[in-house]
Amino acid sequence: MLSSGRWHFFPGCMKFCILNHQKGVILTTIDICRKCYSNHTSCCTVKSKTGEKMMIPPVSRPEIDQILNFLTDKKEDQIFEVKQNSPFYIRQMFNLFPGMEDSVLRQFPENGRHFELKTAKEACVLLGSNGCTLPRDIRPHFCQIYPFWFFEYEPHVFQDSDCLALQTSNTVSEVFLSLGTNPEMLKEIHSRICQDWGLFQTRTPVKLKHSL
Ligand code: SF4
Repeated sequence: MLSSGRWHFFPGCMKFCILNHQKGVILTTIDICRKCYSNHTSCCTVKSKTGEKMMIPPVSRPEIDQILNFLTDKKEDQIFEVKQNSPFYIRQMFNLFPGMEDSVLRQFPENGRHFELKTAKEACVLLGSNGCTLPRDIRPHFCQIYPFWFFEYEPHVFQDSDCLALQTSNTVSEVFLSLGTNPEMLKEIHSRICQDWGLFQTRTPVKLKHSL
């Protein structure tokens, strides 16, 4: 566990574990996120079954611009809102980016502000009746990478008991298959996150005790 209680992010609620993965996964077009939504367990909601504190990841200016270029009938303030970088928020960013604390503090200083996706009725405003209303490559980076993350250049998967892809998979390769992704694609998304969020390695991260 990285902080008090389970980690909660948006999308999804998660804590870390590392699983072995195999390369060379054959992609499918199964839209498991849509199925997850119809089961009312979508990670695009901010509901916490246990009432724990949740965090919505930031969206950067390039991500905002890409979405607004696609949704030409929408205004920025219909989709995004400005939120303060609370101490809780900064702690969670430290946990996501070990070894990048200086960089995190530069980009997300205490009392500074960041953009987040807006929510309505405890769900992302872009969540429609068939799941996300955005094509996959237009979605915010975090939505594209979830439920995966990278620590020390290794792919990790967040444990999310609501995630249908995780529930229905026995191996990480199966999760890749059901979400139509693979480690190379995820690594590329993670690089974009670091770049667009302005986060760079400033020290060697301490090995995560709970990662194996
Ligand atoms: S942008 Fe789409 S994938 Fe991301 S939280 Fe909103 S509805 Fe879900």
